[in-house]
Amino acid sequence: MEDCIFCKIIKGEIPSFKVYEDDMVFAFEDINPISEGHTLLIPKIHAQDLWEIPDEDLAAVHLASKKIIQAIKDVLNPTGVACLQLNGRGVNQVVMHYHLHLIPRTAGGPEIPVCAWELKEGDMEAIKQTADKIAAAIK
Ligand SMILES: [Zn+2]
Repeated sequence: MEDCIFCKIIKGEIPSFKVYEDDMVFAFEDINPISEGHTLLIPKIHAQDLWEIPDEDLAAVHLASKKIIQAIKDVLNPTGVACLQLNGRGVNQVVMHYHLHLIPRTAGGPEIPVCAWELKEGDMEAIKQTADKIAAAIK
């Protein structure tokens, strides 16, 4: 897509700190990193989000994430790596080209906010009703 910053990165029209590339996937360092090693994986085709991405491209991105998370482990020795993927402006997806974040946390590093929330038991009846609705809508 013409105005998409990630499509431009794939084409080399915008420079990036590339860490991996294959026929279907491109991965590079986030220039606004939450932590050291914050890496973005994107499909080479333009697909906006999880609703839009073709199965084979989705699979390719997530298979590539296994290679990259291993390299992150070898190089940075993190205590954990969060895989974060946002869909839609309502959850702060900023670039509207599917991307998977790999966000390592090293020992003593700051908490990654999305990984730490208070556990509060929900309303079981409401949870059941929502589960039933989603389950019934799966195609
Ligand atoms: Zn794009």
